[in-house]
Amino acid sequence: MKDSPGDRGSDRIISGNCLGRNTPTCRYVMKPALLDATTEEFAAWMRQNGQSPYRTKQVWHWIFERRAQDFDQMSDLPKKLRADLQEFWTIFGTEVVRHHVSPDGTDKLLLTCQDGRTIEFVLMVEEDRRTVCISTQVGCGMGCVFCASGLKGLERNLTRGEILEQVLRARNLLPLEERLTNIVVMGMGESLANLDNLIGALDVVCDPKGLGIGQRRVTISTVGLPEKMRKLADLDRRYNLAVSLHAPTEALRDQLVPINEKVGLTAVVEAADYYFESSGRRVSFEYVMLRGINDRPEDAQALGKLLRSRKAHVNLIPYNPVPGLPYDRPTPEAIRRFVETVDSYGVAVTVRKTKGREIDAACGQLRRQVEADRPQLVEIASS
Ligand code: SAH
Repeated sequence: MKDSPGDRGSDRIISGNCLGRNTPTCRYVMKPALLDATTEEFAAWMRQNGQSPYRTKQVWHWIFERRAQDFDQMSDLPKKLRADLQEFWTIFGTEVVRHHVSPDGTDKLLLTCQDGRTIEFVLMVEEDRRTVCISTQVGCGMGCVFCASGLKGLERNLTRGEILEQVLRARNLLPLEERLTNIVVMGMGESLANLDNLIGALDVVCDPKGLGIGQRRVTISTVGLPEKMRKLADLDRRYNLAVSLHAPTEALRDQLVPINEKVGLTAVVEAADYYFESSGRRVSFEYVMLRGINDRPEDAQALGKLLRSRKAHVNLIPYNPVPGLPYDRPTPEAIRRFVETVDSYGVAVTVRKTKGREIDAACGQLRRQVEADRPQLVEIASS
């Protein structure tokens, strides 16, 4: 007797906006995504279908090592098993609907989820680094005033599988001899607001039987949710933590990062200290520079004072303009002076290079553009 996977029940029928299919709304039968199942859930399904643990390992090996996208490719599995797998599961729950490549070689992909919602990820190639930037939510509830992701608020958390699929799809874009080296959780959404699913996905990514990427090569960016930062520290992983500070004082941060009114800058910085003490990993502070707003000499001085006694690193991000928002990038001179001032306090500081600007690689921007222009957009490539 075949059984349905995990606790997800049998095939579900959903209705919704089925992008990638031909009609804007339709009803269709959805198979559960294998990448959304835990190893245990899938092993249980295989057992119930009379399959050995060896066969289970083979399936994962095909997906993680041999980049299988379809059960038919799994040539050393019995035909009947392949057919059974095909009948019950789909390997990926997402579909690629846009694939843009920018002149600097950055790939930006837009995926649709099974409920028709869209998410995006970016693959950046630089010397010996192959970095994927992934999303954790559809939309975002934090409302940072300069960010495209939160303009329409939060729609939902991504599942564990939807997060994992972005990493796997990025890896599958690389030539066979290349490995994905780094993961940055800096796409759409507030990473720590979806901590359990994120960690579930990263545990597979970092597992030697998954993609075997070292925990130290993963950076999680957060708006700064103190309780979740402490929880992450207590999970005893070795991820890098990046905290989006954007302002050195409570008053300015309240203006730019509305959630600050609830959490407070001091609590954020103290939670960052706790993360450093527990993990031994130096925390980086991201600071999006907005012309005339937080790029002034007094801001640089206040930032230097705030961080000088801490083992911290400041990552300055010149603002990447979002159409419709009233902010500008700082002048090169303002950036240079800001760097000098922060550095004069003995705080490590760098300016982030912006990759993929030509393809709207800042969080939420491709998705936003596609949603605004959908009828006119021409698909460049898809897998
Ligand atoms: N929610 C997480 C991840 C967000 S994206 C966080 O807040 O950290 C990663 C970084 O990009 C954040 O520091 C975010 O503030 C920044 N960012 C958002 N919009 C931007 C823009 N238009 N230009 C430059 N950086 C931006």
